[in-house]
Formats: sequence, structure tokens, C-alpha cells
Amino acid sequence: MTHPAALMEILPVAIAAVAAACRVTRHVQNRQQHIQRHSKDDMSPVTIADYAAQAVIARHLADAFGSLTMVGEEDAATLREAGHGLLRDEVATAARMAWPAASVDDVLDAIDLGNHDASGARYWTLDPIDGTKGFLRGGQYAVSLALIEHGKVMLGVLGCPNLSQNYSRSFDDPDARGCLFHAVRGGGAWSVPADQPTMAARRLDASREEDITAMRVCESVEAAHSRIDDTGRIVEYLAARGTPARLDSQCKYAVVARGQAEAYLRLPTRRDYVEKIWDHAAGMIIAEEAGAVVTDVLGKPLDFSRGAGLSANRGVICATRAFHGRIRQAINALELFQE
Ligand code: AMP
Ligand code: MG
Repeated sequence: MTHPAALMEILPVAIAAVAAACRVTRHVQNRQQHIQRHSKDDMSPVTIADYAAQAVIARHLADAFGSLTMVGEEDAATLREAGHGLLRDEVATAARMAWPAASVDDVLDAIDLGNHDASGARYWTLDPIDGTKGFLRGGQYAVSLALIEHGKVMLGVLGCPNLSQNYSRSFDDPDARGCLFHAVRGGGAWSVPADQPTMAARRLDASREEDITAMRVCESVEAAHSRIDDTGRIVEYLAARGTPARLDSQCKYAVVARGQAEAYLRLPTRRDYVEKIWDHAAGMIIAEEAGAVVTDVLGKPLDFSRGAGLSANRGVICATRAFHGRIRQAINALELFQE
């Protein structure tokens, strides 16, 4: 395992890489109407931003550490196909915002640094744009990077370019600065402005609310990703007030970590869906380091030792210590997700 002091040296590199990628994704999101108007179907802004962000982060880490083992969501196979020249150029143009000297081939090669199969003892995992639907709606999305060693998440950085530091602001109202969250195992969870990540970090603390009727829950916008009706049943069973907040991406883990909600529920819609490590690693360590508890819907810890999928788990319950057990109890009483 990397020594905690060495992790603290790696952390600023990971933060700088994610912050650079956030500048790229924000720029592409701001230009998305222009891109949609002037491009073919396969040049969706999310596609361009996804590839460019992965290239920028991979290059940044590889330059700093000399080599890189990374399990990224994207690979450059499609981009390399004949007929995708325009898309390749758009991706390279976007990547140059953070990596000015990049050639098209440099960018493709950097994307493919993320081709590792998650079989090793130590690797990074990246979702360059988590919450693609949110990105396209102009809403919340996240740039998610984590370091996994021997099946344990040791470090996580989560860029949330549209998430406001102002908790009363609607999640549907994108912020101009955004937030970036980071955590190293055992070192707490921290927040900085996404556009100024070297500013003094603020420590995150999960909510200490003990009255279950005051519980605030958040969940996916996409009904295909979580059983919204069952969230409603759990909330009703526990007599919690209020309607669950809906937002895309791992921003939900950060919302619990910073005490803006007491729970994030991800209730599987399909028996055969396997959650991906890059959709949870960074968010999970940030929530845990802020004092929240993260398990699957059956109460099992998320098992990051099985490759790119969380194949030993089903769904996610991320909740404060006071409420996690109560939610599990409600799931049992309502006979949801019985084996
Ligand atoms: P969210 O923004 O929280 O709704 O989650 C976005 C993530 O959901 C994407 O990164 C996908 O990998 C993942 N996803 C896709 N299909 C499903 C599904 N059927 N159940 C759960 N998650 C899914
Ligand atoms: Mg994702």
C-alpha cells in the first residue's frame, strides 16, 4: 500500500488533473448548442468532452508519475476509425484548452492510457464525465478520479463543475465556479472551488441530524438508474418529510458528505446490472471520510476487488451513521431486494 504521506504527495497532482479536465468540460458544455447546431450526430458535446477530459487527466498523471495504470470509462478505438476525423479534431481542440501542445495522435494515445482491465493490485479509475444526461441537460455531472490499491479505494477526487457552494441553490441552476471534493483514506474529506483548487480547503462533515423525520434523501434523475418508487416507500415508511432531491452523477455522494442531505439511495432497477467502479470509487471515499456509511442495498460494503464491476454488490445506500441502519431496516420491513 502507498504510505499515507506518499498519498498526500499524489493528491495535489490528482486535484490539478481533475481541475484541468473540469475547465475543458465546462467550456464544451457552454459551447454545446453551437456544437449541436454545427456538427453531425456522432459529435455530441458529451462525446467530445468525455474523450478530451480523459486525455487531459491521463496525460497529466502520466507526466507526473512517469507511467500510468488506469481503468478509464473511455477508449479511443472509435475515434481512430476512418470517418471520425472531424470528431478527432474536435476532441483535440477541446483537450488543447488544458494541454496546448497536444497533437491529435497525442490525444488518442493519452485516452488509451486508460485501457487497463482492473486486474492489477494498484490502478487509477476514471469516469471523465459521470452523469452524461445531466451534462446534456446543462445540469449536474462529475469528473471522477480514484486510486484503488488491493481492492481498497485510497484516494478520490470529484470535480463537480456545476455544483454551487451555496446549499440553497437549486441543483438545476448550474454554478459558474463549481466545487471539487477530495479525500485520502484516513485524512478526512475536503472541498475547494473547482475553478481555484489551490485555495484553502474546507473540511466536509456529514449531517449530525438524529431525527429521522428530518431526513433529506437524494437520488438519480434517471428512473432507469434507481427505483424512484421504492425510495418513496422508504421515505414514507420512515415518516421522513420532504421530497427526495434528484440530481445526476456522483455529486450525490458529495451532497451527503457536505451535510446537505442525509442519504443517497441507488436502488437497482435490474437484477443483472453491475455497477462500475468509476461510478462509485471517488464518491464513496469522499462520503466515508466525511463520516457517512456506504454499502449496497443488502448492507454489504462495496467490493472493489473484482475488476471493473462491483459484481458482488447491488445498488448503493450512502447515509449518515444515524440513518443508515434505519434505511436498511425499512428495506427489510418493506421486503425490497430479498435474495
Ligand atoms: P446517475 O447520474 O446517478 O443516474 O448515474 C449515472 C450512471 O448510471 C452512469 O455513469 C451509468 O454508468 C450508470 N447506469 C447506466 N445504466 C444503469 C442502470 N440500469 N442502473 C444503474 N446505473 C446505471
Ligand atoms: Mg458514470
